[in-house]
Amino acid sequence: MPRIHKLDPATVNQIAAGEVVERPAAVVKELVENAIDAGAGTVLVDVTADMKGIGRIRITDDGCGMTPDEALLAFEPHATSKISTIDDLHVVRTLGFRGEALASIAAVAQVTLITRPREAETLGGTQVVVRGGEVLEQREIGAPVGTTVIVEDLFFNTPARRKFLKSRNTELAHLYGVVEGIALAHSEIAFRLTQNGRERIATQRSADLRDAIVGLHGVETARSLIPVEGRTPFLRIGGYVSLPAESRVNPSQITISINGRSVTSRPIAGAVREGYGTLLPKDRYPVVFLTLDIDTALVDVNVHPTKREVRLTREPEILGAITAAVADALAARDLTRDGESRE
Ligand code: ADP
Ligand code: MG
Repeated sequence: MPRIHKLDPATVNQIAAGEVVERPAAVVKELVENAIDAGAGTVLVDVTADMKGIGRIRITDDGCGMTPDEALLAFEPHATSKISTIDDLHVVRTLGFRGEALASIAAVAQVTLITRPREAETLGGTQVVVRGGEVLEQREIGAPVGTTVIVEDLFFNTPARRKFLKSRNTELAHLYGVVEGIALAHSEIAFRLTQNGRERIATQRSADLRDAIVGLHGVETARSLIPVEGRTPFLRIGGYVSLPAESRVNPSQITISINGRSVTSRPIAGAVREGYGTLLPKDRYPVVFLTLDIDTALVDVNVHPTKREVRLTREPEILGAITAAVADALAARDLTRDGESRE
C-alpha cells in the first residue's frame, strides 16, 4: 500500500468540483446566484449547446463587479466576500458563502472572467482566464460595470463526468429549470436566457411575483392563481396557489423559495398539499409558487453542497402555518365558482 500523503491543490479542487459542478445546470445556478449576490438588477444567461448540452455558457450581470485583485482571488478555493466566521452562517442572506463555486468550475473547465467594479470609478476592467485551475491570463480590459463569466470546455479534464451527462434536451431542461426557479425567487430582478440565439426565458423587474409567473408560465396560469398569505413571529408566507381544478400529475409544479433561495422540500410540498385537504384528487399536485421568509437563525443552508435542500428548526410549526395559509387562501375563494374566477 502507498504511503499516506496530502493531495495537491489542483486534485483537491477537481474532487471538490464533483460535489458542486455535476452538470451544466449547476454551473448556471452558481453563476446566476453570484450575480444576485452582487446586487444585479438584470442577469443575462446565454448558452450555446452542443450534443451533450454543453458548449459555452455566458452569464452577464450589472452587479458590483470586482477589482483586479478580487478578480484573481475569486478563483481561490474558500475565498469569499460573504462570510468571515462560522457565526455569520446563522445570519447569512447571500446565496453563496462557501467560496467554492468559481474555484470548482475553473478546475473542470476554461473560465473567462471579465469584471469592473461599481465603486472605485478610477478602476477599469479586468479579464482573467483560468483553465483546469491554472491562471492563463490576467490583463486590463475595457468593460462595463458588472461581471461577465464565460465557461467553455466543461469537463474537458474529467471525461467520466462528461460521460454521465444526459441528452442535450435533458441537460437544457435542467438548465431552464434552474433559471426559472431563481427567477421566481427573485421577481425583483430581470432575467433573460437565450440558447443558440433564441430567447427561452424572459422576466421583467417587478415587485410582484405574479409578473414573473406571467413571464415564465403565461397569462392564463398566472390568472388562475390565488394569493397565499400567512405570518408568525418568525415566518412570512407569500406566493400563489392554483385552484384544485388546475392540479397536475407532475409534483414539480410546486416551486418553493426560502429567503430568496430556490429549494426543493418534500415536507413543505406535503404541507401545501395538506392545505387542499380533500379538494385535491389523489395523485395530483397543485401549481404552487411559495415564497417563505424565515428567521435566518432557523434555516440551516449548510447541509448540502448545492444548498438545494435546507434544514429547518421548528419545522412542525412552519409546516403547520403553511398548511393553514393554503387552506385559508382556498377557503376565501368560493370554489363552486371555479370557472368564473378565472374570467
Ligand atoms: P461564494 O459565492 O460562496 O462567495 P464563489 O466561488 O461563487 O463563492 O465566488 C467567490 C467570490 O467572488 C464571491 O464571494 C464574490 O466576492 C466574488 N464574485 C463571484 N461572482 C461575482 C459576480 N458576478 N459579481 C461580483 N463578485 C463576484
Ligand atoms: Mg457563489
